[in-house]
Amino acid sequence: MELLKQAIMEKGSVISEGVLKVDHFLNHQIDTNLMIAIGKEFADKFKSNQITKVLTLESSGIAPSFMAAQDLSVPLVFARKRKSITMNEDVYSSMVYSFTKEVTNEISVSKSFLSYGDRVLIIDDFLANGQAALGLANIVEQAGAKVSGIGIVIEKSFQEGRMKLEEAGYRVESLARIQSLHNGKVSFLEESALIK
Ligand code: 5GP
Repeated sequence: MELLKQAIMEKGSVISEGVLKVDHFLNHQIDTNLMIAIGKEFADKFKSNQITKVLTLESSGIAPSFMAAQDLSVPLVFARKRKSITMNEDVYSSMVYSFTKEVTNEISVSKSFLSYGDRVLIIDDFLANGQAALGLANIVEQAGAKVSGIGIVIEKSFQEGRMKLEEAGYRVESLARIQSLHNGKVSFLEESALIK
């Protein structure tokens, strides 16, 4: 997605060989026009899958998921990283190791918001080693619902997340795929390079 690649090139910063900072438009300050375009792109890619819910992880997944859910006319559910005192109902939960925070969080979703028969589109801001997406997929499956696809804003293709998700049988659609972050420079994986 050209608009997203442009934002990454102009406003992103490489903070190590493995980590990209995009606080200017996604993880701290939010570029709302870009989020609208991202949401529409996800909705377009999954519009034939009869999605009934969009599921993401708080907090950075919420903005890009919001427009996707709106465009697909379905509710957006976000998994919580910490249980709120108001969350006294039964929950589905999963343990997720955070790549950036280097801690394991229990993520949870109230049983009221996912049901047997739901066809769920999972969306997250980044794909690194796949832990967050696999944790969300696990929650969907605990509910007896189906993961219809996984939408990722920025995939770091040099990490093993996509491979793990595809091995588990999930369709993964990423809007920007990064081949490397060597020497402080972002290189994208060109689609043409994928067609051998
Ligand atoms: P994974 O679970 O796939 O290993 O990592 C994905 C999660 O870690 C995302 O939810 C995202 O919050 C965070 N993450 C992973 N890599 C990066 C990165 O390079 N930059 C930022 N800002 N977040 C990342």
